[in-house]
Amino acid sequence: MSMSGPLIFERSVPGRRGYVLPPGDVPAVPAADALPEDQLRAIPPRLPEVAEFDAVRHYTRLSQANFSVDTHFYPLGSCTMKYNPKLNERIAALPGFAWLHPLQPASQVQGILQLLHELEQLLCAVTGMAAFTLQPAAGAQGELTGLKIIAAYHRRRRARSTILIPDSAHGTNPASAALSGFTVVQVKSGPDGLIDLQELRRKLTKDVAALMLTNPNTLGLFEREIKTIAALLHEQGALVYMDGANMNALLGISRPGDMGVDLLQLNLHKTFSTPHGGGGPGAGPVGVTKALEEFLPVPRVRKTGARFRWETRGRATVGRVHGFYGNVGVLVRAYAYIRTLGREGLARASRTAIINANYLKAKLQEAFPVPFDDHCMHEFVVTLKPLLAHGVSAGDVAKRLLDYGHYAPTVYFPLIVEEALMIEPTETESRETLDEFAKALVAIAHEAQHNPELVRRAPQRMVVDRVDEVKAAREPNLRYHASPGTASALHASPGDRSIFP
Ligand SMILES: *Cc1c(COP(=O)(O)O)cnc(C)c1O
Repeated sequence: MSMSGPLIFERSVPGRRGYVLPPGDVPAVPAADALPEDQLRAIPPRLPEVAEFDAVRHYTRLSQANFSVDTHFYPLGSCTMKYNPKLNERIAALPGFAWLHPLQPASQVQGILQLLHELEQLLCAVTGMAAFTLQPAAGAQGELTGLKIIAAYHRRRRARSTILIPDSAHGTNPASAALSGFTVVQVKSGPDGLIDLQELRRKLTKDVAALMLTNPNTLGLFEREIKTIAALLHEQGALVYMDGANMNALLGISRPGDMGVDLLQLNLHKTFSTPHGGGGPGAGPVGVTKALEEFLPVPRVRKTGARFRWETRGRATVGRVHGFYGNVGVLVRAYAYIRTLGREGLARASRTAIINANYLKAKLQEAFPVPFDDHCMHEFVVTLKPLLAHGVSAGDVAKRLLDYGHYAPTVYFPLIVEEALMIEPTETESRETLDEFAKALVAIAHEAQHNPELVRRAPQRMVVDRVDEVKAAREPNLRYHASPGTASALHASPGDRSIFP
């Protein structure tokens, strides 16, 4: 028995099959004729022999041992794990989209070309940028593409080698900059959690190619001085790159293009409703001002008269960053999302995301300090540092939340907050869910003071025992076992109150 019932191999019965094939009506080709000798197996692979419903039940049961947006509240800060309307899945799965082949000539695929062309225009309208590439497959790849554009822009004039990055930045920012060959210089946040203008001025040399900033930043705070910041950079001939992963707070309300941003990436899989996490496909389109358009990757969709085509050449292009045209399925979902919500709907989504975050922050504030306290945007960060006195860490609280039936928020990020819990409720959650979540966190804070061992040993109602990440990193062969009573845990809904004192 493994952690959640038998393995599929343990269900295997010799000769049991999940399919019945009709007898063959063509002569069988001996394997040795079909494949070179050295590529044939001596021993057939050991595969489980099970009926179709054994396989279905096994994997469905395993999938239910997990948390997901479709089953639980998922307040994972910086990731915008919002609910994805099923309509967008249906649209992306329409045979006319799903069965396209990227090598089909443009004359056969006018529909998808039109969709991609219109999506570029919609993203321009949402962000205030002049042009977009839809190629990058993730936020981080969008950053890399943006940095290549920044390098190409300066090479035209005088190469520059420094990228300024605030200390609240997502880890991918310095990683992308370093990978692109830039030197990263950190800009410390001021006491209000925003970029410190004095500090920025000090670090802003003639060698600075760009500032990479996130707005709203990862504390969920809007950089109020963004226009002054952009002007400072531009005065020095440097560019402003915005990490647009937090666009969920800005849709229909304000546009980076109007703030002086020169280029940015969007995370369509976060803001524009593609299910993500677990490494699923994403899309990180990069938008630029008119001055930077010539550097965008190729190919680009062009419209001549009523016809669409691919333009494969560009004199100043940074080249291709993805096979074919990017993750088109994600692009279709984003298009459907934007078109179904419309301008007003997008603005309402952002406003609701902001209201939900502020509501939850207000409810939690009595139990947990908010270090950089201001009206937040779509997310906020609390510190659990006071609980350290009881031997309880942010990680313990996150694990305990699972017992209460909620997925855990992001922990230990941003790095400038000790014992950070970064909470992003998103616009799709109801007031009842937010109330329940706040109640759970306050209850855990109470447990931490009066029964810290309960929190330190959490989770106790999950399929897998508590995982000690530190130990697991040291001992890669470490195995975890089923919690006592796992079989019943699988059938009880997470959050079963019977274990609560
Ligand atoms: C998620 C995120 C990224 C990285 O995006 P990926 O699609 O995961 O590569 C970058 N910056 C911020 C602020 C993010 O939240």
